Amino acid sequence: MPRRICREPLTARVSIERRRVCQWLLLPAVPWWIQAVDATTIASARLWPAQEYTRLILESSSAVAHQMLPMKNPERLVLDLEDVELTSEIAQLGQRLQPSDPYIQAIRVARFKPGVVRVVLELKTEVNPQLFALQPVADYGHRVVLDLYPLTPPDPMMALLDFEKGGTRDIDVDSPPPDRFGPVERGSSPNSPLISPKSKPGLKRPIIVAVDPGHGGEDPGAVGPRGTCEKHVTLAIAKKLVAMLGAQPGMRTMLTRDDDYFVPLNVRVQKARRVQADLFISIHADAFTTPAARGSSVFALSEHGATSAAARWLAQRENEADLIGGVNLDSKEPFLARTLLDLSQTAQINDSLRVGRSVLDGIGAVNSLHKGSVEQAGFAVLKAPDIPSILVESAFISNPDEELKLKSDRYQKQFAESIFGGVKRYFAQNPPLSRSKLS
Ligand SMILES: [Zn+2]
Repeated sequence: MPRRICREPLTARVSIERRRVCQWLLLPAVPWWIQAVDATTIASARLWPAQEYTRLILESSSAVAHQMLPMKNPERLVLDLEDVELTSEIAQLGQRLQPSDPYIQAIRVARFKPGVVRVVLELKTEVNPQLFALQPVADYGHRVVLDLYPLTPPDPMMALLDFEKGGTRDIDVDSPPPDRFGPVERGSSPNSPLISPKSKPGLKRPIIVAVDPGHGGEDPGAVGPRGTCEKHVTLAIAKKLVAMLGAQPGMRTMLTRDDDYFVPLNVRVQKARRVQADLFISIHADAFTTPAARGSSVFALSEHGATSAAARWLAQRENEADLIGGVNLDSKEPFLARTLLDLSQTAQINDSLRVGRSVLDGIGAVNSLHKGSVEQAGFAVLKAPDIPSILVESAFISNPDEELKLKSDRYQKQFAESIFGGVKRYFAQNPPLSRSKLS
């Protein structure tokens, strides 16, 4: 199986540092004939810095015994790797550190004693470290993963607090829906409060749309024939969509990730639930084994099997993201609780089909449709029990023509606009205040 590597950055905006990571990924593993017989070689050392958490990955062809030691004054983490060769890939890890990394100040690597390589992370702040190992999966070998989380995780609700002041979300459920899509008020900007202070009390609640750029970080998603990564395309489209939605009076948005790092599928769901989103849109790019497959599609959750074999196959592939991106199964994070996902989701699915239809109609104006109806399958990321949720496959990245489209700023914008139009039409006909919610 070919390794899933982004061969080229999507746009010039991708940082030099990130490009260097991609080049590092392209380097072949150290050939077997220069590996010591009983020592393991770190074939690839990667950093995924992000405000949410910074991830260090050490990948090797066989499992590496490791242990971590937190140290104080100054704050640092010591990671000892046993029976590991001190090769340039691991020795030069510090050079790949970005000055903007929120958590790591510097990285030093040295042989601590015979057979033990010591990695010292000098920290900018105290962190909550999580160390775990991943078994080989897809194109990856054994991975040692060290995640550095902030002691106090940022609350996605904070960004929306301004709009919650002075009223609760579900008051005045009998009042008529506000005209949320009227002209922008004089003097308002995309950053100004979306509900003016003159609004009636019952109209204070903005519509909140969670936009989910598929994949990220360790999980590139599908890779096109030219090496375009799905994760870059999804983020670009999502950011454009969020800009459009956020500029609407009465609308607020939340991105489940805003950079190139991995977010587990159910964390994406939980983030949307934290902000009590009225809609969840997951953005992806499709791929198939033959280059001819083309067109856009929209999916909703299914509780009872998929609407087609292709939909089932796609859901399976998208659900593999957690394996490839790397989830710490031992984590006790509340985000990872899955209990709510067993509730009946009939109402959610009906709403999702409705918004899916509306979005599909919009998309039909900018690209051919792979299928003329909203399909259904067991996508893990669509399982919020109380939020209408759709997954949009923007085009086939495995199709050379559509890969070019997906890379283009113009198509990304058109595509985001088509979703935007569908969302507006849906909320105009289905105002959230009148929708029943699971409690
Ligand atoms: Zn995907």
